[in-house]
Amino acid sequence: MASLAPAPTSGYRGRLAPSPTGYLHVGHARTFWTAWLRAREAGGTLIMRMEDLDPDRSKAIYAEAALDDLRWLGIRWLEGPDKGGPFAPYVQSKRYSIYLAAWRKLLRNGWLYPCRCSRKDLESALGAPHESSQPGGQVNDKIEPLDDEPIYPGTCRQNLWRAPQLPGPTASDIETPDGINWRFHVRDGEVVEFYDQNLGPQRYVAGEDFGDFVVWRRDGVPSYQLACAVDDATMGITEVVRGADLLKSTARQILIHRALGYTPPAWYHCKLVVDHNGRRLAKRHDSLSLRSMRQRGLTPMNILAAELPVEG
Ligand code: GLU
Repeated sequence: MASLAPAPTSGYRGRLAPSPTGYLHVGHARTFWTAWLRAREAGGTLIMRMEDLDPDRSKAIYAEAALDDLRWLGIRWLEGPDKGGPFAPYVQSKRYSIYLAAWRKLLRNGWLYPCRCSRKDLESALGAPHESSQPGGQVNDKIEPLDDEPIYPGTCRQNLWRAPQLPGPTASDIETPDGINWRFHVRDGEVVEFYDQNLGPQRYVAGEDFGDFVVWRRDGVPSYQLACAVDDATMGITEVVRGADLLKSTARQILIHRALGYTPPAWYHCKLVVDHNGRRLAKRHDSLSLRSMRQRGLTPMNILAAELPVEG
């Protein structure tokens, strides 16, 4: 099994970005292994970034377990929370000032508006309670990636800060996002296309495939879409390898990259491993967690070489 992180010979920079909200499962193992292989084949650098922004669900014990399980698989990274590196900190909960600067820039450039809609407002505007409603939050405001969320009906779009000549506070008077949700205003009908290095050409339409999405939650936490795009750009990531459940998030993140003046990285989405009923694996599938497979005596080779069903 490969064990060393060799010195980079190219400018390729990839990343592993686990969320410490549960134990990693065999699907994560496959995706992270692909990320490691692609970085190695490119002679590049692989970094580890801990995506622990969700204050309710992130746990130190899962962060430690993720690093430990990935090392056990044979995956090595050159920069990360345990190694340091030129783009430290590699833990999202320590990077608020970077996200705040990005939020300010988006606001000043007319991309954001504050949204007062409650979960109830959104449910009634959308017709019915939606599965993705989160207790204690609003529809659409997840920190965890949520690719298929209902399209925001646009109720608060009129709050867009585009007209500094109007009376009242202007974007430059607003210093912090606290106390309210902030949404990114997508241009309805805008086509977002990208070439996926694994799945080929992809095409999404703003306003149809996804709507105005939350970039900052009213409890003071930046969203996954904002934090991920900003980190990939500021950490110099040249290729993002992740699961195909995040394809629409990629389309949203491309819009953030462009709005902030970044060049988006290349993309490689891995097909998702499914269980014997064809359902996507989730952290609740305890028996397929790397932890329990290790405890049952399976080896990295058993896990990486097994024939597993994938979606699509
Ligand atoms: N932290 C995210 C997750 O574990 C993945 C984000 C990404 O790879 O962009 O689902």
